[in-house]
Amino acid sequence: MLIVKKFGGTSVADKERIFNVARRCIEDYKKGNDVVVVLSAMGKFTDVLVSQAKDINPNPPKREMDMLYTIGEQQSVALMAMAMDSLGVPAVSLNAFQVKMHTTSAYGNARLTKMDTERIRNELDSRKIVLVTGFQGVDKSDNYTTLGRGGSDTTAVALAAALHADACEIYTDVEGVYTADPRYVKNAKKLDAITYDEMLDLASLGAGVLHNRSVEMAKRYGVQLVVRSSLSLAEGTVVKEAVDMEGMLISGVASDKNTARIAVIGLEDQPGVAFKLFDHLARHNINVDIILQSVGRDGTKDISFTVARDDLEEAVATIERHRNTSLKCDKVDVEENVAKVSIVGAGMMTNPGVAANMFAALYDAGINIKMISTSEIRVTVLIDAQYTEKAMNAVHDKFF
Ligand code: ADP
Ligand code: ASP
Ligand code: MG
Repeated sequence: MLIVKKFGGTSVADKERIFNVARRCIEDYKKGNDVVVVLSAMGKFTDVLVSQAKDINPNPPKREMDMLYTIGEQQSVALMAMAMDSLGVPAVSLNAFQVKMHTTSAYGNARLTKMDTERIRNELDSRKIVLVTGFQGVDKSDNYTTLGRGGSDTTAVALAAALHADACEIYTDVEGVYTADPRYVKNAKKLDAITYDEMLDLASLGAGVLHNRSVEMAKRYGVQLVVRSSLSLAEGTVVKEAVDMEGMLISGVASDKNTARIAVIGLEDQPGVAFKLFDHLARHNINVDIILQSVGRDGTKDISFTVARDDLEEAVATIERHRNTSLKCDKVDVEENVAKVSIVGAGMMTNPGVAANMFAALYDAGINIKMISTSEIRVTVLIDAQYTEKAMNAVHDKFF
């Protein structure tokens, strides 16, 4: 068998954890398997790099940020190879350049375009454990890129797809995918299995246990994932195409504080206004999430929407730039202390009343809803950020 194993930062945070991971990989290797291991930077090292950079330059060039980021993963794979060597097992560490993992040039948020496998195959053929840096890539001009925070999961899935691996195991600091983030919701339960679509929504709506692009890629290439703990032998959660949820209405609750609301008040009420607004934003690569249009005063209309917190300044600047020409309006309001709370579940498609139950839970907890957005398998509400955990628990307790 060819097994791809990925270990996150907490799993390789110190010497003891590194040896723990080394032993778990060696166990598979000694059974005769080919083992490819993707590692993240140790502990919170990536955050340390961010603060170092911001200390030097509050607005660091994105290319240089990626150049800096890559050292974190490189440290992990080199130390791991040394640990394995000391345990008498041959291992080789490879970075994105050596593999080569080709990506677009979108620094900080690059997409994998192609993955060479020859070097990895050769190393496996010579019976080495192959250790690969997560999160990083190389663009067509040989610049280092990164895949976005949490992107090592995506590296692992891409490798599993490219190598036609028999298993892709994502090891982390919890025992699998839970019905809510177990850090904030005490009653959260571990799921035995979840579908790609539900996991993709949960990950995109704030459940940071998997990078959302990794789920997208797993679905596209049919890579079955197992999410499990590096510190216990518990079974974990399988992420796959179809799952018998045994009448479960929803599979999870997620929250995301990385959001902000923009309200454009007093727009002209005529065709093309929404198009112009969102077209300007799209041209700046700004993703818009929940959108609400309402009737304003004196024949005008108001449009509110949410964007990621990091995009807020650029979004407002973009609108302001067009306020005297194509986007005539009275004012632009911004609200930063908001959070999204979402429920996700395929059971919603056939069970009316799921959304109403969520709203009831929020009403009982005295939490006001600012915006609502729904799809076939999810409901998202925007609330005051200070009530995020209270809302998560209230909604979770209503369904589980
Ligand atoms: P790693 O460094 O291993 O990639 P992450 O911190 O990226 O680990 O992801 C694991 C964390 O995801 C957990 O510690 C947990 O707090 C958080 N998390 C958020 N939502 C969920 C969920 N639904 N199920 C499990 N963990 C979740
Ligand atoms: N080290 C990177 C991060 O902290 C990538 C990852 O952990 O997946 O975001
Ligand atoms: Mg992660």
